[in-house]
Amino acid sequence: MDKNFQEEFTQIIKFKPPLYKQRHQFVKDLVEKYKPKKVADLGCADCSLLRMLKFCSCIEVLAGLDICENVMKEKMHTLSPLPVDYLQPSERSLTITLHHGSVAHKDPCMLGFDLVTCIELIEHLEEPELKKFPEVVFGFMAPSIVVISTPNSEFNPLLPGVMSYRHPDHKFEWNQAQFQSWALETARCYDYSVEFTGVGQPPTGMEKAGFCTQIGVFVRKYPQTGESVQSEKPTEAVYKTVFKAVYPSLKDEKYLQNAVISEVIFAAQIIKHRLMSKHEEYGDDPERKSKFQPSVDCFSDYLGKLVGEKNMEPFVSGNEVYIPLATIFSFPKVNRLCGTFEKLCKLIAGKVTLSSDGSAVMFNIEHENEDN
Ligand code: SAH
Repeated sequence: MDKNFQEEFTQIIKFKPPLYKQRHQFVKDLVEKYKPKKVADLGCADCSLLRMLKFCSCIEVLAGLDICENVMKEKMHTLSPLPVDYLQPSERSLTITLHHGSVAHKDPCMLGFDLVTCIELIEHLEEPELKKFPEVVFGFMAPSIVVISTPNSEFNPLLPGVMSYRHPDHKFEWNQAQFQSWALETARCYDYSVEFTGVGQPPTGMEKAGFCTQIGVFVRKYPQTGESVQSEKPTEAVYKTVFKAVYPSLKDEKYLQNAVISEVIFAAQIIKHRLMSKHEEYGDDPERKSKFQPSVDCFSDYLGKLVGEKNMEPFVSGNEVYIPLATIFSFPKVNRLCGTFEKLCKLIAGKVTLSSDGSAVMFNIEHENEDN
């Protein structure tokens, strides 16, 4: 490489966004493409990738592993659910777990993952650990996809201030040929295919240097059979779990019930409000009042269609307003949350005041009128 040319670039190479963000974005894009449900990040350090991935709605299980317990613990509290997660539980379930241990050891808690990420990890492994790594990740964990990133040493001369390795803890840094031959051999051995890419574009005229971070995306060639997943893999737990957060989810009956109750009351209030305004509009005129039924014009088109159907008309009787559950069940959100009418009845039983036959939500409006 021409020295002047090299020096010129050394002055200007600054990645935007920063390289670590580009690596994490690469993983996020991969998640959006393959939609894995269970993702494990090996060598998760301060959990920054996990923090980003927890917003990917396809993911239900996230796990982090690191040999350094303290670095994981530094910011692990940021993986806990926030008050808003309790106020508006998500429809998906999400569990995040952090383990302290080494990628050189097998632990059953690492089985069953769809995607395993190893971002800037392998270059931190001592030789004996690196030797065991393929058997643990590809042989034992055997996820559908593995993504491995590592520095490309051919790019180092372009980086300001890098004399040997990019980080004092790196045990090696491979050039493109070294990484690719290790990756191809690993893929061949464990029946994966591998494709190479990277982040951190080289400057124009320096394309031969390759990406600053080289990445291998491994895809398992054959689906795992049920048997090979668990029964052939009797291993003892060796990792220590240092953190576990179970996010509130509508898959949990307790949160579903709360959500359904508030939606039912909300829907019933809307219908009642419309009904009462119409009621007041007709006043005491007996002729007009006799016609009083919530007709299409007093509801939205949608509601109008509903009330046209039998047994779905809300009505006032004395000081009570009755909103049929069948009408409430037709509200899209209530319908989606409950799935079936029976489930709706079960979830609100004893929690919402109903008519004596249980077919309608009942409101007493006596005091409401006084307030007005
Ligand atoms: N993946 C992170 C940071 C990588 S730094 C990111 O994308 O930003 C490498 C991490 O690997 C460090 O946190 C280090 O503690 C961890 N590590 C080193 N050897 C390990 C091993 N044998 N098993 C698990 N983690 C290891």
